[in-house]
Amino acid sequence: MKIIFLGATHEVTGSCTFLEVGGRYGLVDCGMEQGKDVFVNRELPVDPAELDFVLLTHAHIDHSGRLPLLCKRGFHGGIYLTEATANLCDIMLRDSANIQMQEAEWQQRKAQRAGDELPVEPLFDLDDVQATVNCFRPCREDELIHIGEDVALRFVSAGHLLGAASIELWLTEGGVTKKIAFSGDLGNKNLPIIRRAEHITEADYVVVESTYGDRLHETTSNSAQYLAGVIQHTLDRGGNVVIPSFAVGRTQEMLYLIRELKNAHLVKGHGDFPVYVDSPLAVEATSIFLQCSRDCFDEPTQKLLESGVNPLMFPGLQISVSSDESKRINDDKTPKVILSSSGMCEGGRIRHHLKHNLWRRESTILFVGYQAVGTLGRILLDGEKKTVKLFGEDIAVNAEILFMPGKSGHADRDGLLEWLGAFRNKPEMIFVNHGEDAAVESFAGLVADRLGCRTFAPYSGTVYDLLAGRFVEQPAGVPVTKKAAETPQAQRKRMLFEKLLAAGERLLAVIRGCEGMSNKDVGKFTDQINHLCDKWER
Ligand SMILES: [Zn+2]
Ligand SMILES: [Zn+2]
Repeated sequence: MKIIFLGATHEVTGSCTFLEVGGRYGLVDCGMEQGKDVFVNRELPVDPAELDFVLLTHAHIDHSGRLPLLCKRGFHGGIYLTEATANLCDIMLRDSANIQMQEAEWQQRKAQRAGDELPVEPLFDLDDVQATVNCFRPCREDELIHIGEDVALRFVSAGHLLGAASIELWLTEGGVTKKIAFSGDLGNKNLPIIRRAEHITEADYVVVESTYGDRLHETTSNSAQYLAGVIQHTLDRGGNVVIPSFAVGRTQEMLYLIRELKNAHLVKGHGDFPVYVDSPLAVEATSIFLQCSRDCFDEPTQKLLESGVNPLMFPGLQISVSSDESKRINDDKTPKVILSSSGMCEGGRIRHHLKHNLWRRESTILFVGYQAVGTLGRILLDGEKKTVKLFGEDIAVNAEILFMPGKSGHADRDGLLEWLGAFRNKPEMIFVNHGEDAAVESFAGLVADRLGCRTFAPYSGTVYDLLAGRFVEQPAGVPVTKKAAETPQAQRKRMLFEKLLAAGERLLAVIRGCEGMSNKDVGKFTDQINHLCDKWER
């Protein structure tokens, strides 16, 4: 019985943990790496077709994004996830496939213009997503699920995103059962709408995230009040409030707050000012939120729903799905609020709204989530540039740029400690992952101090024997070299050359097998090789 850490090891993204129990194999999460890649991730130790099951904690792409690739490479087992995660994952993976396909098309056109006719394949396409969705086995939260006789699990609310769960997992081998608790991503306590994280009280082993393991969140007195203030002073001066917002989760949170502030008439003198949601994915996600079973939500939201109030709907809400509708938003001069994605301004319709509003002194760009280094969002927030390039045009940065404090989907250091503090007996070992280098190490140290437990922050490739209670492999982190940071074009060139080398090695193997063959055949083959070489030698 083994656990092998593959991804989100000394990094935040690319969550993936491998399990082996009684000769069966499974994964917890199969995420994509996003943003800066610091350490090399080990490959799956078995062929995807040999995997029996995948357990998915939640729909975020850094946990689910490589599932279609897994299916493309032969996985056909069950993917166990909560019902809400299944619904969200369906739309998010389709969106991701569309982006992959557009990117491949763009690369292809670029390569063709450079005289390169080689086909560029997307990482995965919509057929691969459909194959993935066909493997989904939606489960109720809190229900005990069995996968054969040696694997049992239960999803427990993690309060991080709709449907997000921690997993209690029981593995049995040779009559011995070990329980592992996977935290998944744990939510910030003051998140509205979704149900709070529930505590797990017993486990032999724990795998805990540590995104903010070295930080405390700023506490906000009242998010609706803050937002109302921003909207009031922007609309008063005739500008628009543009909110770059992640389509799934954060957008619905903002809608909830806007309903609240409109209901309390916190913005005065602008009637039912218009609020636009301009992101097809956000629109789909919002309708999934509203179809969910009541127990996904926190108490205030449940009460609203029971009294017949739609918590994400209010007068003045405008939804745009087509790109024509999107374009019309900026033709209309009425001061308004615009919610659009991507949340870090790296792509999507938000860039159009930035183009139309960044140069206007009367407008406000309000960031409501973390902005990674190097993204347009971060550049604007740092306030270093007087102009930025959007769609080939220089756009002056005149608008007011603000950051809404206290908006994080993750628990902070104390929130994580509180979750860990609920275990009644000391676990044999607490593995710390899903955090940047500094965060995992400092949090692992802190937990060892406070809880008196053995803790370890594994690098990719760490193998631990859960029955024997010892490390089998304990590799150091392998930093990503320049090779991985090369351009897609250079990468294709290198891969083609590697293929050629492999072909050459095959040729040599065939030649070695020619020993003892008739002189005539050997002579003919030799001539063919020399002919080819004459043609290619430069
Ligand atoms: Zn997440
Ligand atoms: Zn995550």
